[in-house]
Parts: sequence; C-alpha cells; structure tokens
Amino acid sequence: MTLSRRALLALGVAASMIGAPAVSFAQDKGTVGISMPTKSSSRWISDGESMVKQFTEAGYATDLQYAEDDIPNQLAQIENMITKGVKVLVIAAIDGTTLSNALDNAAAAGIKVIAYDRLIRDSGNVDYYATFDNFKVGVQQAESLVAGLKERFGDVKPWNVELFGGSPDDNNAFFFYNGAMSVLQPLIDSGDIVIGSGQMGMDVVGTLRWDGAVAQARMDNILSANYGDKQVHGALSPYDGLSIGILSSLKGVGYGSGDLKMPIVTGQDAEIPSVKSMIAGEQYSTVFKDTRALAGVTVKMVDALLSGGEPEINDTSTYDNGVKVVPSYLLEPVSVNLSNYEEVLVGSGYYTADQLK
Ligand code: BGC
Repeated sequence: MTLSRRALLALGVAASMIGAPAVSFAQDKGTVGISMPTKSSSRWISDGESMVKQFTEAGYATDLQYAEDDIPNQLAQIENMITKGVKVLVIAAIDGTTLSNALDNAAAAGIKVIAYDRLIRDSGNVDYYATFDNFKVGVQQAESLVAGLKERFGDVKPWNVELFGGSPDDNNAFFFYNGAMSVLQPLIDSGDIVIGSGQMGMDVVGTLRWDGAVAQARMDNILSANYGDKQVHGALSPYDGLSIGILSSLKGVGYGSGDLKMPIVTGQDAEIPSVKSMIAGEQYSTVFKDTRALAGVTVKMVDALLSGGEPEINDTSTYDNGVKVVPSYLLEPVSVNLSNYEEVLVGSGYYTADQLK
C-alpha cells in the first residue's frame, strides 16, 4: 500500500500527538548521488560535508562517494549510483574527459547531471555546471604574486619567477593558468618578470593529479638547474597542496633564512596547512572559494531541476565542454593573504580561530 504524502502527514501529526515518533519527511525527495574526486585535499571533504548537510535540510537523501583520484574507481561509483536509481548526479570529475559513457547511461535512465566545480567535457549529457569564476581565480593569483613581488622585492629587477599549473586533465587548470598569464605575460614581455627556467605553457608546467610531491620534485630540479648563482623571487602556484611542496623545496635549499628571503608563493583553497603557512610568513597568499556557497548553489539547482523549474544561472557562454556550452552559475573567489585572512576565513565562520593555531 502506498500512502499519499497528506495521509502520511496526518499519521505523523497523530503519532506525535500520542507521543510516538513523528513520521519524518526529511528524505522523501529521493537520493542525490555525489561523486567527489579525493579526500587527500580538505576542500573536497568540506564540499562533501556541506552538500550532505544542505541536501538533507532540503529533504534529500545523499550517497556521497570519494574516488581517491582513481578514474576507474570514480566510474564504478557513478555506475553504481545509476543502478541504485539516484535522481541526480553531482560530479566533481577526476579527469573531466572520461565520463561520457557513464553519462550516456545516466541520461538513458533519466538522471540529471550537474558538473560540480570542474567541467565535465566531451558529453552532451551535462545539464548544468556550478563553479567559481575560474579565470578570475588565476587573475587573483597572479595579481597577488605581483603585489607580493613589489612588497618583498621592490628593489630587485627583473623578478625571477617560476610557473606551476594544475592537472592537465582538469579543465579548471587551463582557466587558472590563462587567467594568471593574462596578468603575467605583459610583465614578461616588458622584461619585469623573467621565467628563470624558461618553462612555460600548460603542457610543460602542468602537475598531473594536482600532486604536491610532483611540484616539489619539479621545483627541486628547477632550482638546481637554473638558480645556482641567482635567486628566485616568486612561484605561481594554482593550489595550496602544490604550494606546500614548492615551499618545502625552497626551504630545503635555504630560502626563508639568512639573506635568502622567502619567494612569493601563491595558492588556492585556503586549506589549513596553507593558512598556517601564511601566518608563519611562508606562503604569501591563497584564494578562498567558499565550499558552503558552492554546495548551496548546487542544492538550489537540483531542487529547481527536480521540481520542473529552471535553475538560476549567470553564465551561458564561457564553459564549452566540446559538445555544448554548459549553462553555469559562477561564484566569486576571494584573494586572501595575511591582511584579510581573519576577516574572510574566521569572520565568515569557515574556520574557528583555534583551527588556525
Ligand atoms: C579546484 C581547485 C582545487 C584543485 C585541486 C580544482 O579543480 O577548482 O579548487 O585546488 O582542483 O583539487
């Protein structure tokens, strides 16, 4: 027997009147499958937690899975969610080009798909995209790098800088790099900045799977091959996990002590080790992207989609995935350094002051 919602409601009210537990409707809107790339970076843990909390509050059940940066694992988790009959898939892809078959199956089963933070490429079955203004993230990283160079190395010209890119299988990595180069290229052209290693372009500076150890090893090589008799002043880093690796490499050869001032190193995600590193005077900046807000946008999109409405979007031109331009909602990233981290990160309740001690 299936009871109507109204009948169930009446039952719930009656039950609560006689002291029995009320019937709960918290999970009667169906299940949302949430596929996240990895727990190795705390931002994805925050994303997952925020989504579970907000989807639950909105009346959905959730199936949250992490794939530990293993592509077959993520595919298997998504196929499993499709088999279990989730209503919607929210996916932050490990490799944005590998999901086409799985998404064909989702579409055949009538399951809507939202690309979360990272664009899913080469598939017509991506309904919406919730993310931040990724080009702007890169602009903010480069602007902060230049501000730091002026502040710490104002008496030096040219500035020796090294470039690091994100994972080449993540569409965002190109937006970050291109955004950053829109600021840095004119300074390279004018001779204010010199890329000491000469290594430029995402095909050369990309860091597969955003792996901090890979960035650290690359920086080790760059320092020993190019900086025997000169100093490096800055490193463009697109993600805190890479920044920590780059800083280890720099510290390993004596930067940050004696006469060797610490180079300006940027970042992204405002992860706790990096905020602590900023407080300790090592990492110069990061970019904060409020995962609570991204989860909020995603929940609203899903709710609109499932109730037959139109999700709110604010960008219909930027994110061409190779098959279609995916309608998107872009949130604003915030550049953070020592001067504003307390206000932005603690003031907004993202972290407590104690977490940063
Ligand atoms: C995200 C960044 C993150 C990076 C590494 C990107 O797709 O947009 O916030 O730093 O992946 O996890």
